[in-house]
Amino acid sequence: MQNDQNTIVKRAVCFGCWLQAGVLATIEDGRVTGLKGEPGHPVNQGWICERSKAFVEHLYHEDRLNYPLKRMGARGAGKWQKISWQEALDEVAERLDQIRSQSGAEAVASVGGTGRGFSELFKVRFMNLFGSPNHANAGQWCSVVSRQIHAAIYGAGASRAVKQPCKCAVIWGGNPAESFACIFPQHTNAKRKGTKYIIIDPKYSETTGRLADHWLKLRPGTDAALALGWIHVIIEENLYDKDFVDRWCHGFEALKQRAKSYTPAVVAEITRLPAEQIVASARLYAASKPASIIWGVKSDMQGRNVTGITHAKCALRAITGNLDVTGGDMLAGPCEKANYGAMLEYMHMLPVGQRQKQLGAEAHKLWCFPGYEMVEEYAKPYWYGKGLSAGFLPGCHEPAIWTAILEGRPYPVRGLICGACNPLVAYPNTKRIYRALKSSRLELFVVAEQWMTPSAMLADYVFPITNWLEHPQLYTQTFQGSGSAAAIGERVVAPLHERRTDFELYRGLGLRLGQENYWRESLDKEWDWCLEPLLEELNLENSQDFARKQRWWSSPTVEKRYATLDPATGQPKGFATPTGKVELYSTILEKLGYDPLPYYEEPPETPVSQPELARQYPFILITGARFRPMHHSEHRQIRALRKLHPHPIAEINPETARQQGIGDGEWLVIETPRGKIKQKAKLTSRIALRMVESQHGWWFPEEIGEDPTLFGVFQSNVNVLTPDSEAFCDPATGAVTFGPLLCKIYPLKKFA
Ligand code: SF4
Repeated sequence: MQNDQNTIVKRAVCFGCWLQAGVLATIEDGRVTGLKGEPGHPVNQGWICERSKAFVEHLYHEDRLNYPLKRMGARGAGKWQKISWQEALDEVAERLDQIRSQSGAEAVASVGGTGRGFSELFKVRFMNLFGSPNHANAGQWCSVVSRQIHAAIYGAGASRAVKQPCKCAVIWGGNPAESFACIFPQHTNAKRKGTKYIIIDPKYSETTGRLADHWLKLRPGTDAALALGWIHVIIEENLYDKDFVDRWCHGFEALKQRAKSYTPAVVAEITRLPAEQIVASARLYAASKPASIIWGVKSDMQGRNVTGITHAKCALRAITGNLDVTGGDMLAGPCEKANYGAMLEYMHMLPVGQRQKQLGAEAHKLWCFPGYEMVEEYAKPYWYGKGLSAGFLPGCHEPAIWTAILEGRPYPVRGLICGACNPLVAYPNTKRIYRALKSSRLELFVVAEQWMTPSAMLADYVFPITNWLEHPQLYTQTFQGSGSAAAIGERVVAPLHERRTDFELYRGLGLRLGQENYWRESLDKEWDWCLEPLLEELNLENSQDFARKQRWWSSPTVEKRYATLDPATGQPKGFATPTGKVELYSTILEKLGYDPLPYYEEPPETPVSQPELARQYPFILITGARFRPMHHSEHRQIRALRKLHPHPIAEINPETARQQGIGDGEWLVIETPRGKIKQKAKLTSRIALRMVESQHGWWFPEEIGEDPTLFGVFQSNVNVLTPDSEAFCDPATGAVTFGPLLCKIYPLKKFA
């Protein structure tokens, strides 16, 4: 759009978080001067948050990385040489090739986070073609893990949105007022229209305050027990949907037996909820038609119980007949009219022999290739012959990378590529990761980043990467196959300085390592191919034409897909599972060697499981809740945002604070058996007496960058306190634990 001679407005897609709002960007004399929400956009309806608006500062910030850097001094010494992309790519490719020829491609691993480039897509393509199965990512404890469990149980992803005519919405382990800001109005509108809300959260949140008809303040980490308690009530009181169960569920009797012992009294004892509240909430959920259980990230962060909780939620949706009905929980499938997923990642090019070497695959099969292949066997024919799971799956087990570097088990990892991720802050057990990144056994550490972070400080090469104003942002769900919609934003300005997209990094390495047949000549060409089926149908020239004219496309809603007839067989399609039904008793989990039914186990570090330790560390630590305006470990250097949220915050109850001698706004120390950090105390009766909620993602770009300070990475970073050993990981998926954990708290000493 051209407003006047020197002012242009472009239609971008915000990638300040995974919601990906529609944004109108104003460019005056070639410079971006303002961002605002695009009116009527299906995601955000014209609203954007403060984080999105601050991307103008992000674009022009003086601390953005602008040139490729090569380490000159010791790792972490902060001595860098600016080099050209050409030189950097040549050198990195040569060293990767050397490692591959000496130790096999599996000796190169990669790590990723929430993805500031194109999430995992091009990195995974590069890794598959290079021959390494070892890419780890934060999806193992956020969202993707949940999606994979859903895929095993009923062959589709998890529900995220509330749709009319929902009568009862259960927000289980999430706070969308903070974490899903631009779609939160969906909830307030639904509430206005009469939807009853059950909020399950140990802590009173803004979401609880604005939506809850029932707040279930359970003991942290006991969600799976509560879910089994609901299943018990619903079955024992005959509140389940017999027709759906008879026709479309596998293993109902086994589920009934499993839930039998989870009586309201037993679950009350485990969760510390009143038995009457457990019964009343189960009845409300079961009696409301349709009802929805909405995904919440906290279920994905509870280590050993992750599969148990998610499986139980899937079972609840199914036995109450709420699956794939509008207002209930629709099957979340991919976009039929896109080329997405494994085909973009050339998954088939990774040889079987290399798949078998994937780190952690023996212990955590559902997350790794064995489970992925079983899920895709049924998902691929069901979902348009293209499959369901891509992007982050199948990953290797994240902690296994550090073990392979430090101990050479089961074989050494000698090279690591880190794609727009800050593992020292974002992954559990910071101190172990620090040792691994500093280790001489790690011979090559390459980072693609927008900023110099604590992790990037330890790199051998750093590549400067664009943000979403500098590249055409394709809706991540479209290319990953995790949403039935397509959207793309315009490139607002050309990349500044020598920043490039991460596509160019991985393509550049790929071309130097024999992958020339698998990379299109530009990112635009990749997106053209991804959207090709839609471009033809909508009579659009290319992906940027889509961005300008179409903006958003979503497939028509198909209800009860399982009952629709498959033209090939004339039979109902059923579900994309081995039995064609919702697997209350999972044959995939059984074959992989895990508990085939929803389960609960006491978390490994609570006063119940570790009474001795609890005498020394008497408080319950939880972490990982999203908070505005930050996004994980990002934005601490953005002035507009840091002004709004200058310090790391730990929430504690005023009575606890009084007993411990901690004042509001004062620094306190949080200590676990693994280490200690400081954060600022916020006293609030929203949190229970014995609980501490510590914010994640903190480091300080204003601090000294050189090792060992590394921008204060050990000062307030909660992952100094978190574990990553097998005892804390979910058996099937390897998901790690971000709470509950035991801690002690005390005031930071003051001498002035
Ligand atoms: S919540 Fe904010 S950062 Fe996330 S997509 Fe919406 S506007 Fe962008």
